[in-house]
Amino acid sequence: MEQFTDIIVIGGGHAGIEAAAAAYRMGLKVRLLSLRTDKVGELSCNPAIGGTAKGQVVKEIDALGGLMGEIADECTLHFRMLNKSKGPAIWSPRAQVSRSQYPIIAQRKLRELDPEIIVEANVEKIWIENDEVKGVVLSNGSKLEAKAVIISAGTFLNGVMHTGLNQTTGGRFGEVPTSLKTEPEGTLTLQKFRLKTGTPPRISLKSINLENLELQPGDDEVIPFSSRSKIKPENSIHCYITYTSEITYSALEVKRR
Ligand SMILES: Cc1cc2nc3c(=O)[nH]c(=O)nc-3n(C[C@H](O)[C@H](O)[C@H](O)COP(=O)(O)OP(=O)(O)OC[C@H]3O[C@@H](n4cnc5c(N)ncnc54)[C@H](O)[C@@H]3O)c2cc1C
Repeated sequence: MEQFTDIIVIGGGHAGIEAAAAAYRMGLKVRLLSLRTDKVGELSCNPAIGGTAKGQVVKEIDALGGLMGEIADECTLHFRMLNKSKGPAIWSPRAQVSRSQYPIIAQRKLRELDPEIIVEANVEKIWIENDEVKGVVLSNGSKLEAKAVIISAGTFLNGVMHTGLNQTTGGRFGEVPTSLKTEPEGTLTLQKFRLKTGTPPRISLKSINLENLELQPGDDEVIPFSSRSKIKPENSIHCYITYTSEITYSALEVKRR
């Protein structure tokens, strides 16, 4: 069988995008296999890049040649340097970015490296031979051979979604969960642990009375995440802050009973 590629990356979230781009920069042929090509770069959680502690990580990824900062700079809607009242060591850049544009830009940047880099596929198994990873097996049964496989399947692996008191299986909203086995079964022990995360409900802006909220404008000076960005990001929206009140606590208490 002809080798499919040098490196297979499973999953097109933040981790997979950086892994694929890094492998490409190292001169390797890489294929990023993800459930849906149009969802590569989809922001699962809030569309914020950076923030406390995470802002430094985005900068470090950028220093290593990564894509996250460049993508964020192209679709920034609102920028703030958090912790500005404290010392510069803990200043934390945070951008609210366009949820619809981020994946489009991410996919474009990957295809600029190699037009064939993104492949739509559901990986079901890691293919093992003689105690070594040989490649992957897809849900349609086909086998793809590679020198190495990088797993960046994110929150999709055995994903369970909790909505109120209900539990359903899922990757993200409207997307299927995945499970990775090995072929032959049991030949590799993958260490797994559960990540539990929470996210607020998305509410239509039109349904909110902004007059009751605290305005949070972006900073006058917008600092790009990437030292390589050619465009200067600008603030185009305001953010608004609201706080949990005693009424909220009592409402939650009533629901718990
Ligand atoms: C509802 C929700 C709320 C969250 N809240 C936060 C938060 O507040 N703060 C925070 O830091 N993080 C939060 N997260 C986690 C956030 O999603 C991760 O930090 C981030 O997305 C991880 O990136 P990733 O690249 O590891 O994986 P993901 O973004 O999850 O991407 C995984 C990719 O792998 C693909 N994939 C998975 N399995 C396979 C397979 N077998 N074959 C092919 N493709 C596959 C998927 O299609 C997807 O493209 C939240 C996630 C969810 C779902």
